[in-house]
Amino acid sequence: MSDRRRLLVLGATGSIGTQALDVVARSHGELELVGLSAQRSWEQLVAQARQTGVARIALSEPDAAARAAEAWTGGEVLSGAEGLVRLVVESEADLVLNALVGSAGLGPTVATLGEGIELALANKESLVVGGELVTALAEATGAQILPVDSEHAALHQLLAGCAPGSVRRLTITASGGPFRGMSVEQLEQVSVQEALAHPTWSMGGKITIDSATLMNKGLEVMEAHHLFGTPYEQIDVVVHPQSTIHGLVTLADGAMLAHIGPPDMRLAIAYALHGGESVDLPIEPVDLVGLGALTFEPVDSRTFPCLSLARAAALAGGTAPCVLNAANEVAVHAFLAGRLAFTAIAAVIEATLERLPAERVSSFDALYEADRGARELASETVAALA
Ligand code: NAD
Ligand code: MG
Repeated sequence: MSDRRRLLVLGATGSIGTQALDVVARSHGELELVGLSAQRSWEQLVAQARQTGVARIALSEPDAAARAAEAWTGGEVLSGAEGLVRLVVESEADLVLNALVGSAGLGPTVATLGEGIELALANKESLVVGGELVTALAEATGAQILPVDSEHAALHQLLAGCAPGSVRRLTITASGGPFRGMSVEQLEQVSVQEALAHPTWSMGGKITIDSATLMNKGLEVMEAHHLFGTPYEQIDVVVHPQSTIHGLVTLADGAMLAHIGPPDMRLAIAYALHGGESVDLPIEPVDLVGLGALTFEPVDSRTFPCLSLARAAALAGGTAPCVLNAANEVAVHAFLAGRLAFTAIAAVIEATLERLPAERVSSFDALYEADRGARELASETVAALA
């Protein structure tokens, strides 16, 4: 792909966003940044704007946007949730990277696809919350969605080489997180600091906790289902502590294809930003002999109930995945703030799902409403447990 592509990076100050800027800097001008956004970290965003020369930035928090507008006169500063949507629809971008965290990413996903703009999607919560409507919108406008998640980028790349009808199952791997092998009793005592110490990946706080509870794999099963149209019963999760194989495809004849790479998100980011092509990156391939062995284990669903909760919500459908996601966000936030025990995260999600049975969804507004309602109930449960 040699055409110059105009790129917007939403969530530029985060873990994925900053790595994306590195990928752009190495693209030999193939990717041209036209805008950046963040929630409130205006100093970092202004520094990124100066460095990359973009003409527009957006900050979701109006106070932060006002401070940025005072400090930076090199371009336009947009403010609030509407500012973020304006950035998407007015920037004439060919490609948007959505690297926001949480269901806050759904609005920008909808705005991007609604404009028919190609979407590099790190914000898996968009697909968890609104999978059916999001993929229907992409189909209606003809906008492509390329995954920025190591397992899904791996599967995307593997599936590109598979004949239609030749795929039997998909497998995504889980590192198992920092608490692999622990008992429920041990988990009751873990600290925020221990939960944030991921063994193989360096990521933002929310996804790091999701990796420790295994909710991240639950979200990723839904992400795979919506991206590839694969039924839930054909998507497997296996624990693979080395995080070297990211995804596997089982073919009709029983053969398996595996995607192997170091745990470096720039691989998945570059793959998506370059339209599903492999480009030069300064990344050392895996040293197979140095590694010696790759191992696999089943998921311990009794100790880590979040994956089963997610699978059940996925099968229930309708508002259930949205409610699960909102409750998880509230619970993870409370855990990070020291207001909730690690093992209570699953309890908050389960209680919220019990109180809000799945309802059919016919509009994005219904999802925003379900998200709000679930957050309220989950916050009540957190307060009751505190
Ligand atoms: P992060 O917390 O490091 O960064 C999040 C970014 O989004 C920041 O720029 C922040 O300013 C912005 N943001 C947060 N809340 C917002 C809001 N309400 N409105 C507008 N902007 C907001 O997160 P991350 O680790 O980079 O993850 C981003 C997304 O990518 C998540 O959905 C995550 O699950 C997914 N992902 C991340 C990794 C990884 O390695 N970090 C891997 C796979 C998938
Ligand atoms: Mg992943």
